[in-house]
Amino acid sequence: MDKYEILKRYFGYDTFRNAQETLIDNILEGKDTLGIMPTGAGKSLCYQIPALLMDGITLVISPLISLMKDQVGSLNQAGIHAAFLNSSLTVNQYYKALSFAKQGRYPIIYVAPERLVTDEFLDFALNSNIVMVAVDEAHCVSQWGQDFRPSYLKIVEFIKRLPKRPIVSAFTATATKEVRDDIIDILELQSPMVITTGFDRRNLYFGVMTVKDRYSAIKNYLEIHNSDSGIIYCLTRKQVEEVCERLIKDGFLATRYHAGLSDEERRKNQDDFIYDRIPIMISTSAFGMGIDKSNVRFVLHYGMPKNIESYYQEAGRAGRDGEPAECILYYSSRDVITNQLFIDNNQDNIELDEVTRAIVKERDRERLKKMTFYCFTNECLRDYILKYFGEYGSNYCGNCSNCLTQFEQVDVTEIARALISCVESSRQRYGTTVIIDTVHGANTAKIKSYRMNENPYYSVLSKVPTYRIRQVLNYLQLEEYLFVTSDDYAVVKLGVKAKEIDNKQIIMKLAKESDRETKEVKSKSKKSKADILGKEQFTKNEESLFERLRNLRTEIAKEEKVPPYIVFSDKTLTHMCIVKPKSKQEMLKVSGVGEFKFEKYGERFLSCIEKFGSNI
Ligand code: ADP
Ligand code: MG
Ligand code: ZN
Repeated sequence: MDKYEILKRYFGYDTFRNAQETLIDNILEGKDTLGIMPTGAGKSLCYQIPALLMDGITLVISPLISLMKDQVGSLNQAGIHAAFLNSSLTVNQYYKALSFAKQGRYPIIYVAPERLVTDEFLDFALNSNIVMVAVDEAHCVSQWGQDFRPSYLKIVEFIKRLPKRPIVSAFTATATKEVRDDIIDILELQSPMVITTGFDRRNLYFGVMTVKDRYSAIKNYLEIHNSDSGIIYCLTRKQVEEVCERLIKDGFLATRYHAGLSDEERRKNQDDFIYDRIPIMISTSAFGMGIDKSNVRFVLHYGMPKNIESYYQEAGRAGRDGEPAECILYYSSRDVITNQLFIDNNQDNIELDEVTRAIVKERDRERLKKMTFYCFTNECLRDYILKYFGEYGSNYCGNCSNCLTQFEQVDVTEIARALISCVESSRQRYGTTVIIDTVHGANTAKIKSYRMNENPYYSVLSKVPTYRIRQVLNYLQLEEYLFVTSDDYAVVKLGVKAKEIDNKQIIMKLAKESDRETKEVKSKSKKSKADILGKEQFTKNEESLFERLRNLRTEIAKEEKVPPYIVFSDKTLTHMCIVKPKSKQEMLKVSGVGEFKFEKYGERFLSCIEKFGSNI
């Protein structure tokens, strides 16, 4: 079998996502690999598929029991033999799994880092053919990351003891340079291929709302999205308690999670949420690491988190299946004060010396400021986040609360024509600043020395602010009406489309100039669009088919004792509603339906669809 057949047969997908294939090929060529991709991008397949193609055993190091359980559950459902070795097993179970592993029954074994250098495990590892060690959530080796695990430092020690060095691959969603360098150094990756994909999560809608009564706003949201599963993050335990209690009183199925609860209650509440027994989770930031639940349709923030890193990580738990999901932050000015207090009383920093502590505090304040700006910006919210992480977006995403209300279509034909004519009439000799200053009519020494004040287009746009002229100039480059040479002089020249300008109208999407309307208004106009983006162009009919398929999924999940999203993701069910397959062949075309899953429960879904069809 080749990688494409494995993708189709076991995972039920037709094509790889952008970086997956490169990463897989690289591993198959025997090279160390580091994949940095956002949550939900599909990192697991990048080591699972090579693991199935290579001769030998792949060990996957994962920081949390819940993650391992989830992944092994998914693999088993797809018909792949895999096991985990961690402290959730009884001694008997552990030895049994280890003996199966010794017999070579599992091509993929998940193992907790603490286990690696224990005698029993080494006995197995030293006598088996370990071809790859895949480190998932690799940022855990770094003290700079949010979730440092000292036991991750044991990984290298373990690898060094193996008779033959396996390929080492590492995966994370943390993009900062410090963390990336730490992973490469600490795991001692050998001339690794490092692949970083863009951090944009297009299926996520971003919104900010400043409302007087946050509780009512959230309640209202939940009423509209009543059949969806989602998380509500609060800043404090007290808030979690309050919001949860009120929601339950108001008749919602909700549960809670924070560090003040007993281990047992936390486990139970988490399971209730993951197994779709309770759709709404209210929690502090303590909840989430290790939650791979793919059908989280919304993440609401009842309060502003302390920085963009935390916000994007928490919001990113929505929509892992790639289906539309919403991330809305309900802001109140009190949040800033609460966060200031957190920063001032940060217990994590107690061991630091005074100078370092001051630096950390300063950095945290700076981060909080950027987070606060997010709640006030008029810019595209997605763009704001991407810029924060050092990426450049397109200024307009069309899927955030600002883009949907703060932007307008502006006719910039006149500005465009003036710019192009100015470039042409000055014989394509000047850089962007000179061109902009000329049309704007700047009275500078430079302009005079170039005699651009005598140019026929001098000052024709004196009433247009320079930033707007620059925006249009950038746009003209993007659209190939103009281009800027890439040598040291960076001269603006006419592009291939320059000639067409005379009979074209140029319309741009631009941020609205003035009236910063209150955000309450924003949220209203947003809703209709968000609904379109939600269950998309589902007809009433498909909506109710989706319900039935979802119920069937829950039923099967109970029998299989796995979370429902492991049976089929929301994306797969949605696809089924649209395709309405009538045969095995058709069913196998649905994204996420592989051979093995079809054999197991494909017929039940087929007959559910058939029954539904005959009833309408
Ligand atoms: P990550 O670890 O990067 O957060 P996962 O490996 O958990 O992401 O994958 C997220 C979701 O994307 C899963 O539901 C997975 O089945 C799905 N997925 C992965 N690769 C593909 C693909 N090539 N086509 C469609 N869905 C995919
Ligand atoms: Mg993952
Ligand atoms: Zn946007």
